[in-house]
Amino acid sequence: MARNLDPKCRQCRREGEKLFLKGEKCFTDKCAIELRNYPPGQHGQKKSRLSGYGEQLREKQKIRRIYGVLEKQFRNIYHLADQKKGVTGQNLLQILESRLDTVAYHMGFGASRSEARQIVRHNCILVNGARVNIPSYLVKPGDVVQVADNARNHIRIKSSLESSENRSFPSWVEVDVKSMSGVYKSHPDRSELPATINESLVVELYSK
Ligand code: SF4
Repeated sequence: MARNLDPKCRQCRREGEKLFLKGEKCFTDKCAIELRNYPPGQHGQKKSRLSGYGEQLREKQKIRRIYGVLEKQFRNIYHLADQKKGVTGQNLLQILESRLDTVAYHMGFGASRSEARQIVRHNCILVNGARVNIPSYLVKPGDVVQVADNARNHIRIKSSLESSENRSFPSWVEVDVKSMSGVYKSHPDRSELPATINESLVVELYSK
């Protein structure tokens, strides 16, 4: 299966902000953005102005990187968002947020989206009691997502759940840490998602 193999901190530096791709390290002062917040490469520290198209492209890449989605998948998600009723940009974020890997990440079953994706792929997650190992599976409001019995003792899952509980869970999921399960209550409201994301630039890019 194709995946993005670029070093994670390098991806954040390219976008000039924390994308939280590495789990616990992202919350420490060892984060590369805290240490060297300029684009990687020989000319990284040179100031350059982006064109309108450049800005749209960068925003699209940033969102893809946050959610760990490859170009083709992202385009398919965009088409799905475009066909739905409502505001396309918000639909896009809603679909990305309801992917099983992202839901499992917000519920604390993985320290990062990529770790959550691995946990899903390794058959460690149940949705409404049935095993689902497809990270792009779209979770619906009201669905129950839980860690399967055979994975309850995994140290990585336990420690990630503990750290997420300490940081508190997002409002659109309700997690029972003891039973390692959670309910995806509703799609997140746009105001609950990072203000640094500008999904309208992606819509402008794909509407050309
Ligand atoms: Fe990005 Fe996390 Fe690396 Fe910081 S530590 S640069 S937030 S991946």
